[in-house]
Amino acid sequence: MSEKAEIMINHCKSFLLAVSVSLASAFLTTCVFAQESLPLLMPDELFRRNIGSEGQLDAQFPPHRIIDNIYYVGTQSLASFLITTDAGHILVNSDFERTVPTIKHSVEQLGFDFEDIEIIIGSHEHSDHMEGDARAKALSGANVIAVAEQVPGLAHMRPGGKAHPIDKVIIGGDTINLGDEVLTAHLTPGHSDGCTSWELTVTDAGQDYKVVIICSVGVNPYYQLWNNPERPDIVDKYRSSYAALRALAADIPLGSHPSMYKLEEKYPLIGQSVNPFIDPEGYLYEIAINEQAMNLRLEEQRLAAMQSE
Ligand SMILES: [Zn+2]
Repeated sequence: MSEKAEIMINHCKSFLLAVSVSLASAFLTTCVFAQESLPLLMPDELFRRNIGSEGQLDAQFPPHRIIDNIYYVGTQSLASFLITTDAGHILVNSDFERTVPTIKHSVEQLGFDFEDIEIIIGSHEHSDHMEGDARAKALSGANVIAVAEQVPGLAHMRPGGKAHPIDKVIIGGDTINLGDEVLTAHLTPGHSDGCTSWELTVTDAGQDYKVVIICSVGVNPYYQLWNNPERPDIVDKYRSSYAALRALAADIPLGSHPSMYKLEEKYPLIGQSVNPFIDPEGYLYEIAINEQAMNLRLEEQRLAAMQSE
């Protein structure tokens, strides 16, 4: 038995101890969702992996070029990207309002002007990714472009009482064009209704690569997956998003949190002959590990509901 399989079975055993004997056989189905090749990570572990510590949310990660015209300008646990063009730049994720000065500093350290940002877009309508839109717009003069399903959530995001700026609303499948850059918005809901994964193509050493900035397919600790009256289709949305992301088959995975694409492991490898961010397997791994975690949480909640009946 592989070490991973053994770990998985030990996890399953501890789950079984946690439920009554009458539910034990039913709970075994939970373990069926665990794939032998994947470590058994529950949604809360992936959430903690993404968020990191309080300090990591705010601490600058060294700004760097990822590939071609894509640069990292985020913190240790909140990813922001600068996509540069001859006609100005695109900022993906303004993060918290308090993060904006750190992002600006990173942009300037890379030798770019914050005022040259023409467009601000975001992964999804949660404050750790898009709360800073008003401040980033005020400092750059950029237009904020939102995806329609993000709008209701963004309307509630009013740091310091400021209205959330939205200059243009697009829908899933639309493209954003600036200079010779084309970004496609793919609606990948579940984590939020407006969760959007952004696709673009880059060139490195004469070869084209598909980049996907994965919105997030994570299940936050308080999410209700089983019988959610407010979001009855939440599980269907997650499942359609796993399928949509798999179909995109990116060569270069990026994400709204840098741990989604293992930035810390890849960063020291920058400058080697092969760009460390080219990682199609890592892209599929991130989808698979989150899908497994979603299924585990769903089953856990289904069984808890059975028990309380
Ligand atoms: Zn989120």
